Amino acid sequence: MNDFFSPTLDPHHPKEHIDALPAQSGTRSLYDSVCFCNRCNMCAQSCPTFRLRQEEFSSPRGRNQILRLVLEGKFKISAYRRQIEQSMASCLLCGACSAACPGKTPTAEHVLEMQRALGIRPLPFLLHKILSWRTASPRLFDWAATLCRLAHNGGAVKLLRFSGLTQLPFLRWVNHADDILPRKIIFLRQHLKKTVFPQNPGVLYLPSLEAAYLDGSLGLSSWHKLQEHQPAVLFGLSSGLFEYVYGSLRHARHAAQKLMMQAGNGTAPIVTDSADVYFFIKNYPRLFAHSKVWQRKARRLASRVRFIADYLPKKAKAEGYGRVQIDPSALFSFENEAFEKTEKIFRVIFKKNLLHYGYRDTPTPPFGYSFRKGNLSKQVCFCRVKDIARTQTDTVFFLSGLSALELNYWLKKYYPGAKAEHIVRLNG
Ligand code: SF4
Ligand code: SF4
Repeated sequence: MNDFFSPTLDPHHPKEHIDALPAQSGTRSLYDSVCFCNRCNMCAQSCPTFRLRQEEFSSPRGRNQILRLVLEGKFKISAYRRQIEQSMASCLLCGACSAACPGKTPTAEHVLEMQRALGIRPLPFLLHKILSWRTASPRLFDWAATLCRLAHNGGAVKLLRFSGLTQLPFLRWVNHADDILPRKIIFLRQHLKKTVFPQNPGVLYLPSLEAAYLDGSLGLSSWHKLQEHQPAVLFGLSSGLFEYVYGSLRHARHAAQKLMMQAGNGTAPIVTDSADVYFFIKNYPRLFAHSKVWQRKARRLASRVRFIADYLPKKAKAEGYGRVQIDPSALFSFENEAFEKTEKIFRVIFKKNLLHYGYRDTPTPPFGYSFRKGNLSKQVCFCRVKDIARTQTDTVFFLSGLSALELNYWLKKYYPGAKAEHIVRLNG
């Protein structure tokens, strides 16, 4: 990667920005990547925020052009800061535009770069603090997560809501968390506390945040699917995806390095139940474009990562699910490899009952979007529910637990005939 002209957004903090972005013709610098957008607008109708708002600032083309003009020094951030922040904060990072774009322009990655340069911290302060401890201070995170679990299970959160305290701006996210989480939270660790892990495991299961802490039964379903491969669980580790999206790139690299060291030099596959995490680890080498040693290690780990769809039962039963759809909702990578694999398996199981996910269907917001400031998740989810009702879908399968929790809440509210499930729940 040796570009002739390559301006940067934030020359004083190069380590806080990604050096190499994925493009059809290999990895590119940020400026080169954004120049691939030729403003054709073919992606506009696939973008949920553009369809809702019908304004250029909320379209993929608009977001790319803002970034390009800022890089070329033709657009002063200070003059339009509020609009730019709104435009970037409202992006779902879903990648639907990249799937529709002839040049596969990675708009979601451009938006993230802009957020890093503007110093936007999209999550509410307290929520961000707690989640960032997962990498920075795992013990503190465990302690905070246990406290939150006890408050949720014991009814203290209901009391908080009743007292109106959750209406305070810095606690509003608690309402939404209480709405979407299962009535009783059990950590995966509690489910597996009596399990003895093998000395030489055949696979290493890396549970997502939701499978480890928010809905342990989801992690347990993944665990059962891996049984014949002698699994062990990588507890207390994160892939660094949270830091990549919501924190700093430095911390994302640190989390990735920690995972690489813990996973060791073995050959056992590392299995994840989140398409977001799968795609992120597959792209680890991009994080280390500045270091050959770490890039080699990242490549090795990326070659070991597998998505849980590879371990689904080959002869699953289709009864009881009715008309089925797979929601491709995932960060950056709409209709990605994990989605294609899952679709192939589901086509054999559900045959004509597997409905096609249309180009203009609205994706469910991925990876905690509904907790972000300035999100449009209520409107987006309402459109998603309308799509499900229009196609008379009975079960929507997800590749990520968080999106399934999110959609289930809205389905219960507006279309209780349908339900959302993670794919690992297939046949229990
Ligand atoms: S992102 Fe792709 S489809 Fe959208 S305007 Fe740019 S080039 Fe066209
Ligand atoms: S990532 Fe999603 S929300 Fe953002 S511009 Fe692309 S399609 Fe629109």
